Amino acid sequence: MAYGSGIVKGMLLTLQHLVRPPITVNYPEVERNVPVRARTNLLWFEERCTGCSTCAQACPDGCILVQTSPRPDGTLNIDRYEIDFRICMYCGLCTEACPYQAIQAGGRYDDAVYIFENMYRDRDRLTAEAQSYLRTSGGRYPNGQLQDANPLRTTMPTARSRVPVAGKDGPFGPQRLPGKADRSA
Ligand code: SF4
Ligand code: SF4
Repeated sequence: MAYGSGIVKGMLLTLQHLVRPPITVNYPEVERNVPVRARTNLLWFEERCTGCSTCAQACPDGCILVQTSPRPDGTLNIDRYEIDFRICMYCGLCTEACPYQAIQAGGRYDDAVYIFENMYRDRDRLTAEAQSYLRTSGGRYPNGQLQDANPLRTTMPTARSRVPVAGKDGPFGPQRLPGKADRSA
């Protein structure tokens, strides 16, 4: 190897980096796009949830609370659904356990709070998070399913059975997921 070639290579590399545009993102003024399947957070979609409590049983930290009461049609009314993010370790076991993918990994990552107790999210806050996510994703769940195009159909009564029957000309029938028009209402 010719004498000094290493220095030349090093200088060329330095020059390359001098002309390359910066890749630093000035967060929080600028935010990077998060890949749609990034496991950034937990999202609970009430319209998919049956209240079966499988997620709560699978959680090793016991941070999910599900309280239900029976309905005359055999389905469960979800009285409370809460996640205590103060003790959640984001292991994702609840998302794997849920038979209906009603709780999925995804959503925002700017989740820092000044008041620790604010990390406790009740049903209303979880639903607000989920609806906000669906608005920005055009109705697509983190698992890739579209709310409108891929209604989940099951043979057992689910929470969606409580949605009024859409009728013969309705979009999906009794177990349909709410469409975009319903969500904006
Ligand atoms: S991610 Fe893990 S710790 Fe957090 S609620 Fe789900 S199962 Fe529990
Ligand atoms: S999120 Fe899933 S596992 Fe948890 S209660 Fe709802 S349907 Fe059952």
